[in-house]
Amino acid sequence: MSAIRIAARMRRIKPSPSSAGADRLAQLRREGRDIVSLLIGEPDFDTPETIRRAAIDAIESGQTRYTQTAGTLALRQAIAAKFERENGLRYEPRDIIVTVGAKHAIFNALSVSVEPGDEVIIPAPYWVSYPDMVLACDGTPVIVPCPEEHGFLLTPAALEAAITPATRWLILNSPSNPTGAAYSADQLRDLADVLLRHPQVMLLTDDIYEHIRFGAADNPHIVAIEPRLRERAVVVNGVSKTYAMTGWRIGYAAGPSELIAAMDMLQSQSTSGACSISQAAALAALRTEPSFLPGWVATYRSRRDLALQRLNAIPGLRCTAPAGAFYLWVNCAGLIGKRTEQGQRLESDLDVALYFLESAGVAVIGGTSYGLSPYFRASIATGAEVIEEACRRIAASVAKLSS
Ligand code: PLP
Repeated sequence: MSAIRIAARMRRIKPSPSSAGADRLAQLRREGRDIVSLLIGEPDFDTPETIRRAAIDAIESGQTRYTQTAGTLALRQAIAAKFERENGLRYEPRDIIVTVGAKHAIFNALSVSVEPGDEVIIPAPYWVSYPDMVLACDGTPVIVPCPEEHGFLLTPAALEAAITPATRWLILNSPSNPTGAAYSADQLRDLADVLLRHPQVMLLTDDIYEHIRFGAADNPHIVAIEPRLRERAVVVNGVSKTYAMTGWRIGYAAGPSELIAAMDMLQSQSTSGACSISQAAALAALRTEPSFLPGWVATYRSRRDLALQRLNAIPGLRCTAPAGAFYLWVNCAGLIGKRTEQGQRLESDLDVALYFLESAGVAVIGGTSYGLSPYFRASIATGAEVIEEACRRIAASVAKLSS
């Protein structure tokens, strides 16, 4: 009999489909398959030079020891300044915690607050990790479908209908992974009005894509729009997407002192905080004028327009322009029910994604993984030539399907 015993709660969760997709892609490439990947969930730009230089300086000047568990005071001060400058939110450094990526901030916030039976409202399509994080914390994810006719956004009526006495959290992600949909100030105002009627519900905003927006320059934050939510809101962000720093693993959260203190205690008994060198790099990032950002966003926008044009020209596929982030969320209803050359019927978006992989060598992720079907997510965080080639291959493989 084996001594290894995996805890029962691990059976409730599954691997992240993005990581599973990346592993499968690596395996196929090792086997010599020619695969074009539209899986990538990170900027394909290098971390800017000033930020890299700050990390090297941190190493050379001996900033190589444990920091405060919640992060260095200098970094938390820079985060407080960022919140005030960019979001109109005022937080003291003691109300801020630095974490090992935004993902970890969300996991910590849920870990210290969710108890068995607590419900967490997650608008779908959602970032794949939210439901599994809730399950890992013994909570119950309450998935609220946000269909295309509502722009994949949560409506006040749908929110109201989902709230029960057991609701503990609402998670809002704008712009969203995977749809790129972003809430306007008016839409946030309406959601805030619903939340005001339900004081037991806390709000977690995941703002990781806030700077990758193609539309209006304004960047409304629900807590700035309705300051009465501040006492029960946790604002999560990080440097991964804005500064092309995914591997540095720095995220952060701001919120009520009591909750941040609990997250700090959990960190003190788990990670001891984030890497000192990455914190120094993040400090430089937040202090640097992001002069590179307009160019990066313009590049994402031109790739978005290219991919939209190519994919919408393929019979059976349909896609609207995302307001932000670096993904296209493609409706593939027109392919469901079609047959491959081998006579296999495409029953779901997972079948469509598998068909593209096997027949065209193009990797995308089926919408089922994000809680809404039939769609697939295609990343545009890759070169225009890769997008062109992927779309060309998808078009050729769709042309081979029969009714
Ligand atoms: N939130 C969303 C919506 C994301 O898409 C991602 C990464 O893909 C994260 C959070 C995680 O960010 P980080 O790299 O800071 O952990």
